[in-house]
Amino acid sequence: MGVPEHLIDDLAKESCNTIPCYMPYITSYFMPRAKGDRPAVIPEGYSNLAFMGNFAETERDTVFTTEYSVRTAMEAVYTLLEIDRGVPEVFASSYDIRMLLNASYYLNDQKGIKEVKVPLLEGLIERKGLKKIKGTFIEELLENADLL
Ligand SMILES: Cc1cc2nc3c(=O)[nH]c(=O)nc-3n(C[C@H](O)[C@H](O)[C@H](O)COP(=O)(O)OP(=O)(O)OC[C@H]3O[C@@H](n4cnc5c(N)ncnc54)[C@H](O)[C@@H]3O)c2cc1C
Repeated sequence: MGVPEHLIDDLAKESCNTIPCYMPYITSYFMPRAKGDRPAVIPEGYSNLAFMGNFAETERDTVFTTEYSVRTAMEAVYTLLEIDRGVPEVFASSYDIRMLLNASYYLNDQKGIKEVKVPLLEGLIERKGLKKIKGTFIEELLENADLL
C-alpha cells in the first residue's frame, strides 16, 4: 500500500482506529421469501417504473452483492429504454463441477478426499471408486481441485 515500513508501528498505535461493528441490516437480504414477495425489476404491464437493488426480483442471481444491484439496474434501463444490450450473465458456478469440487475442498478445511474421515463402508466404496477413476478425466478434476 505504499506506507513507509518504519512508520507502520507508530501509525498503528497512534493514528488508526478500528471500530468493530455488527452487520445489522444484511440479514434482511437472506430472509425466507416466496416468488412475489419482492417486486420484479419491471413488474408486468409497467413501462415507466422499475425496481433496482437486492430487494427486486431478477432471475438466477443471488443476493448480497453489488453485482446484483448493478444487474437489476442494467436490466431496468435496457428494458425501459429499449436498449439492445445484454445484461452480463451470472457466472453459473452452481452447475460447474470444477467450482463445486473446489468449494468442497475448502468446506472440508482444505482436506483431500483421503484425509476426510468417512465410515467404513463409505471408505471401501471410496477406495474402489478411486481405483476406477485412475487415469481418467475425473481423476484430473479431483487433482485440480486439490482433492487428490
Ligand atoms: C455488511 C455488508 C457487507 C457486504 N459485503 C459485500 C461484499 O463483500 N461484496 C458485495 O458485492 N456486496 C456486499 N454487500 C452488499 C452490497 O453492499 C449491497 O448489495 C449494495 O451496496 C447495494 O447497493 P444499492 O445501490 O442497491 O443499495 P444501497 O447501497 O443500499 O443504496 C440505497 C441508498 O438509498 C438511500 N435511501 C434509502 N431510502 C431512501 C429514501 N427514502 N430517499 C432517498 N434515499 C434513500 C440509502 O441511504 C442508500 O444510500 C454487503 C452489504 C453489507 C450490508
